[in-house]
Amino acid sequence: MLTNKCNLPEPIYNFLKSDYQPKEKQYSVTTILNPTRQIILKRRYNNAIDQDCSDLIWTMLGTAFHLVLENSKAGDNQLQEEYLKQELSCLDDRLKGYYLSGKADLLDIKQKKIIDYKTTSSFKFIKKDFEDYRLQLLIYAWLFKKIGYEVNKGEIVAILRDWQRSKAKFDKSYPQLQVQTITFEFTDKDFEDIEIYIKNRFLEIKAYEDKPDNELPECTMEERWASPTIYAIKKIGNKKAMKLHENEKEAIDHLKNLNSKFGDIYEIEVRESCDGRCENYCSCNKYCKYYQEKYLDKGEK
Ligand code: SF4
Repeated sequence: MLTNKCNLPEPIYNFLKSDYQPKEKQYSVTTILNPTRQIILKRRYNNAIDQDCSDLIWTMLGTAFHLVLENSKAGDNQLQEEYLKQELSCLDDRLKGYYLSGKADLLDIKQKKIIDYKTTSSFKFIKKDFEDYRLQLLIYAWLFKKIGYEVNKGEIVAILRDWQRSKAKFDKSYPQLQVQTITFEFTDKDFEDIEIYIKNRFLEIKAYEDKPDNELPECTMEERWASPTIYAIKKIGNKKAMKLHENEKEAIDHLKNLNSKFGDIYEIEVRESCDGRCENYCSCNKYCKYYQEKYLDKGEK
């Protein structure tokens, strides 16, 4: 259910209100890039999940950006917002009746290039981790190849929604422009690999579709966007740490060593691990055992 805690105007609420119902045995390109547990819980509790308008504002701006471009004229050799759907028995007989679907923003037929628009944070470009973008474009490219188009490149056109001109001026490692593009070249090997990836993703999803919640595979640290627990060595009373350890025993040994030399003036501050996706980007988190045990049962949320 969509709530409206900030009492935002009705057009915003109505725009965000979605009557989306997942289709059985059909998963989109963007969906299969998510962890299996999240995909299944989201589908299972689709009608019960509460979200607030305020949490979806950036999603709305992203959608608005796509809608504007959808209504703008594409070039002669370009296909815009093409809806693609592929049955997957071509990859494995066990996937008969399963479909991969997706809507690519733009295909430039002459340049053999898939283009996708993104609205994202500057941090994504500081971190320079674009594997999710590469995979998404490669899957679209594979879908287009299946219907007879040649594609050997992908390009992301990203608008950095929180970009700051002042930061760009003083920090050369900060993205220098508010719009960034990244290009990927796709080889035959990439297409072989992506077929295996798609097949394995669907086989895993299929294997867990009917399993109870507590038997769904756990999301890995990487999938949870987890940062590890940190053991910070610091002078008692100071905020700043002199050394950060990821290993508890190493931190204890370090502390003992320091305190034996300088008297008991140092301590360990435990900075608990956090899970960026679970806490902020997983709408089904309330239904996930991991989240319940780590966050809800402790009364932290
Ligand atoms: S809350 Fe975290 S662990 Fe649970 S499904 Fe979501 S991302 Fe995975």
